[in-house]
Amino acid sequence: MSTIAENISTLAERIRSAAQAVQRDPASVGLLAVSKTKPASDLREAYDAGLRDFGENYLQEALGKQAELSDLPLIWHFIGPIQSNKTRAIAEHFAWVHSVDRLKIAQRLSEQRPPELPPLNICIQVNVSGEASKSGCSPEDLPALAQAISALPNLKLRGLMAIPEPTDDRDEQNASFAAVSTLQAQLGLPLDTLSMGMSHDLEAAIAQGATWVRIGTALFGARNYGQP
Ligand SMILES: *Cc1c(COP(=O)(O)O)cnc(C)c1O
Repeated sequence: MSTIAENISTLAERIRSAAQAVQRDPASVGLLAVSKTKPASDLREAYDAGLRDFGENYLQEALGKQAELSDLPLIWHFIGPIQSNKTRAIAEHFAWVHSVDRLKIAQRLSEQRPPELPPLNICIQVNVSGEASKSGCSPEDLPALAQAISALPNLKLRGLMAIPEPTDDRDEQNASFAAVSTLQAQLGLPLDTLSMGMSHDLEAAIAQGATWVRIGTALFGARNYGQP
């Protein structure tokens, strides 16, 4: 087995045991492979080991890999910060966007989604770490943003995404993820997705209801930003 295939089986076991610890079906937790800075050959290996969903943060890098891997039926998720001038390409080349945190971006994605494609799946990124984080909608602004996005024609609002301030304290991890889950429930909308949990905190995220865990390091190894 390749290292990537081994990492995937280790992750599948972590997901299984975290789900079973809280009586959840492990199949209700998706593994999103976060492939930023990694070459297309690594994604191909992950595909060969059974993964289909890939998350990318940087548009140009993602478009390059999509072209190299166009022979594979991959499902692409955009998970990075979004500038207005990138929305058209994102609307054209992705199935999911996890990092929507303002209405202007959502409106542009809806307007620019090609009519022949299904609605773009959207998660609103919410900031549950206060001052410590600059991205994400505030909990106060979330209800109005969620209502407005729900009304846009070419988007399908699926749920919330969060990147809490990293900590090794399991209680703090639980508290942050529980806050995301509570915010989602309070919206009273028919949402089915919680995108939360990364390599170091996926167990706490699954305990609090994650349906996508976004995993980079534990799958592909450490990132080297000097040599993408
Ligand atoms: C890089 C990244 C991840 C993956 O983080 P790891 O700690 O490497 O698992 C998950 N989500 C987002 C939004 C990221 O940018």
